[in-house]
Amino acid sequence: MFNRMSQLFLLFLVFFILGCSGAKNTPAAAPSPTRQPDAQTAPSPQAAHYEEPAGSALHVDAGRAMQYTREIVAIGPRWDGGTGQQKVGAYLHSKLKNDQVEEDAFVADTPAGKIPMRNIVAKFPGTKDGIIVVGSHIDTNYPLRKTSFVGANDGACTSALLLAIADELRGKKLEGYSVWLAFFDGEESITKEWTDDDSLYGSRHLASRWQQDGTNRKIKGFLLADMIGDADLDILRDEHSTSWLEDLVYEAARRLGYQSYFFAGTGAMEDDHMPFKNLGVPVADLIDFTYGYNNVYHHTTEDTIDKLSTKSLKISGDVILETIRLLNANADKFGPMTKAAR
Ligand code: ZN
Repeated sequence: MFNRMSQLFLLFLVFFILGCSGAKNTPAAAPSPTRQPDAQTAPSPQAAHYEEPAGSALHVDAGRAMQYTREIVAIGPRWDGGTGQQKVGAYLHSKLKNDQVEEDAFVADTPAGKIPMRNIVAKFPGTKDGIIVVGSHIDTNYPLRKTSFVGANDGACTSALLLAIADELRGKKLEGYSVWLAFFDGEESITKEWTDDDSLYGSRHLASRWQQDGTNRKIKGFLLADMIGDADLDILRDEHSTSWLEDLVYEAARRLGYQSYFFAGTGAMEDDHMPFKNLGVPVADLIDFTYGYNNVYHHTTEDTIDKLSTKSLKISGDVILETIRLLNANADKFGPMTKAAR
């Protein structure tokens, strides 16, 4: 995942330290020159009325999500083309063996040559016509493949969270839209320079496939989880995401009493939601891009499991599940798709 504003972020930090070190409420997340004032980053008042979802709230077993994280991290580095990539695929299949699972296998043309990749999608059918997608990437950073980088926060914990969400959904009659859990391969760039052509291999492939087969048209909301196991949880409001869906995520957090972990800062993220957003699907990237002071653990061998917390996985997982409930009751009201996806 990449933030186009990262260089500006550094500039801002210098300014922040020199210029306003006493301002406690100033967001620490990557800002941009177009960063909105706090009043506007909060949900708009017009969006404040939501239909009450049916049924009771669902909760992830965060302890189990942490255990899955441990198991994925124990596989070791999982960069595309390495043995870890095969192992994490097999691991996911073993956890989802009783579910409806599909593979989207393809060969990616990368600066390092042709690399086989596969997205894995677990489908939990609902009673309403429409789909809610929750995504996470399963690969680890490629340029760091010769190091001990295991991506505990960056790839492992959110994939683990999706498995814990699967545990919650499994065997239940879902009185709402179908929920599809998408495990993306090839999110990371192969070279150190993140470009549109060298990044997001899996999500670009699946978004294009789903555009052709009509799936994108049925997606009521696409929620992406990335780097949100950080013990110091601070999920930013992504300027590339769909604003009504971001508002809905915030409403879910508010209802659970977790709103202080959401949207104190903003950023403009390039992540697995972008290929879907570009095809008109309503998207929300749930990402914490302040992983350690000044994001120092991101894409370093410091991205290890001791930086995560079970509580953060609980907050992230429960807010995703609550957003799914809110989508069931509200997506038709807020979610007219853009022409591209029709
Ligand atoms: Zn990454």
